[in-house]
Amino acid sequence: MSIDKALVTGGAGFIGSHLVERLAADGIDVTVLDNFQAGTRKNLQEAGATIQVIEGDTRDQHVLTTAVTDIDVVYHLAANASVPYSVDNPRYDFETNAGGTFNVLEASRNSDVSKVVYASSAAVYGEPVYTPIDEDHPLHPVSPYGVSKLTGEKYGFIFKETYGLPFSALRIFNTYGPRQSRYVMYDFLKKLKENPEALEVLGTGEQVRDYCYVSDTVNAFRIITEYEGVYNAAGGTPTSIREVAESMVSQVAPGAEITYTGKSWKGDITVLTADITKIKERGFSPEIPLEKGIKQLIQWFGGSI
Ligand code: NAD
Repeated sequence: MSIDKALVTGGAGFIGSHLVERLAADGIDVTVLDNFQAGTRKNLQEAGATIQVIEGDTRDQHVLTTAVTDIDVVYHLAANASVPYSVDNPRYDFETNAGGTFNVLEASRNSDVSKVVYASSAAVYGEPVYTPIDEDHPLHPVSPYGVSKLTGEKYGFIFKETYGLPFSALRIFNTYGPRQSRYVMYDFLKKLKENPEALEVLGTGEQVRDYCYVSDTVNAFRIITEYEGVYNAAGGTPTSIREVAESMVSQVAPGAEITYTGKSWKGDITVLTADITKIKERGFSPEIPLEKGIKQLIQWFGGSI
């Protein structure tokens, strides 16, 4: 698909800012729409001066109607991206993730937008019935966040069926890398900065995740721009939290004692791994192995602690 202009909602956030850089590097005119609830202007510094920034909120239909003018593709990432925040603030989560997505779709179908690409989440699956999880896995979200992300997806496909608005969704598993400001790896680095002698890990350390470096997630977004439907995006190398903790400690605080609380928190999922066959068939191939990705994350965080 030839794209002259793209809108990235949530473009000042962690994944969004990397996507913005990639689109700009591909010669695309990029507009960012962000309310800076979690994103920052600093995240956009490396994207260059050519991008346009609209400080606005996806809960505001009028802002979106203006933002999609002359846009070819909308990458819709603006969201509350935190499960605990959705538990504490279910209304913000609902209005932004479900309502905001509705507004993006509504603005897009009434304009010349030729595609909406949506950042969905592995949270739509809920507790796995089997692993690795493929796209046909049952959808039983277990948090307000999971429900609101799934609602956005459902609206996307209904708008496609009803109004012919092309739509694809990326079900993102754990993405990590520079500019992330939450999630387990970031928490480990913060803890080790505070105390380089010890790292306390919540749970047993045996929880398994499927980490995907942020540039690989961005590649996945670019690939599914060309296709319809729903796709998992993950690194394809299941890794336990224990392995992540050991890798981080060896790189930034060798000798630090790792302890495990043993108890998981309510809703913690033991094994969350993805079957990425479908997106691989479209040309996706994760490029950054975990060890290298963690190094790059540490470098961004401030080198050795
Ligand atoms: P992030 O919080 O860094 O990015 C979200 C961005 O949206 C932020 O810049 C925030 O300021 C903006 N935003 C929030 N509410 C808004 C609103 N009402 N109007 C306009 N802007 C608003 O999170 P992220 O990790 O970069 O996640 C990006 C997307 O990917 C989200 O849709 C998230 O649900 C999805 N996702 C991320 C992961 C992950 O591992 N990081 C996993 C699954 C899904």
